[in-house]
Amino acid sequence: MTGAEAEEPLAEARAAGIHLMAVPTPFLVGRVNCYLIEDDPLTLIDTGPNSGKSLDELERALAELGHRIEDLGLIVITHQHMDHLGLLEIIARRSGAEVAALDVLGPYLQDFSASATADDEFSMTVMRRHGVPGELASALQMVGGAFRAFGSSGRVTMPLSQGTEITLRDRTLTVLHRPGHSPSDTVFWDERRRILIAGDHLLSRISSNPLISRPLAGPPAGATAADRPHALVQYMASLRQTRELPAHLVFGGHGPPVTDHAALIDERFRMSARRAGKIHRLLAGEPKTAYDIASQMWGNVAVTQAFLTISEVLGHLDLLIADGRATEDDSGPVTIFQAVDA
Ligand SMILES: [Zn+2]
Repeated sequence: MTGAEAEEPLAEARAAGIHLMAVPTPFLVGRVNCYLIEDDPLTLIDTGPNSGKSLDELERALAELGHRIEDLGLIVITHQHMDHLGLLEIIARRSGAEVAALDVLGPYLQDFSASATADDEFSMTVMRRHGVPGELASALQMVGGAFRAFGSSGRVTMPLSQGTEITLRDRTLTVLHRPGHSPSDTVFWDERRRILIAGDHLLSRISSNPLISRPLAGPPAGATAADRPHALVQYMASLRQTRELPAHLVFGGHGPPVTDHAALIDERFRMSARRAGKIHRLLAGEPKTAYDIASQMWGNVAVTQAFLTISEVLGHLDLLIADGRATEDDSGPVTIFQAVDA
């Protein structure tokens, strides 16, 4: 969708009291979409990252709409990534607003820094087991640590779960848990208007990375087939559920709105099938680690974005294994994958 084509859905959203405010981030993804819902209480969906520039731009966008941070009565968080929640502590303190987020995010956000450290340790375990050189994994962990200040702790005062309804004066938003991009992905469904506010669950311009993330509840996970979170498998199950919604407009966490979510989801499925096929061919004749595959597919990006590319490869290997097209050998210190019927 071009900028001009995005105008119509955005105008429709404004008529429904929903305003897109794109806030800058220091991340590769570019701006993050926060949404103001003019209702009672005045509601902010996602805050943007913890930086002075983001706060300035958010305040300016609010002012253009005739509001101040102090007017907010409810802050809703779509998921655990810092580009979406980094200003939470500051905005919650200044406004005194309620903070609504998926129940498992409560403990996670109590001490964001400790949660992020545990996430980094889990990423290290995954990268090491799947062939990322030790020095590279350590270097990437340091880079990740430097970005942590863009996140925020916060106190969730309104814990949400699947099916919870958030009732505002003019609308009801049904809470739907859609894990995959992250374990805490939450989308908000306005059934009457057929509008979905989707965070990073479904994005118009880019596919949502199914990052292999440390589970927020349940037993601790590892990196082998037996105990690894199957993020892509889970993400596709979540997308299938979203495809069934009779949504008219989907507002994501980055980029313009989605006007035909079923077609976009079908395209995501086709891309995934193509990628799985490519990985299957790369495995032909020669067993490989996930890092070998990532390097062959993405070259230097597999170095600079090792965790992201390893997550992509493992996700598609999980699909191949589920289809009986690949096998996994976890017996050595590094996991080796092999094609079946290559
Ligand atoms: Zn995200």
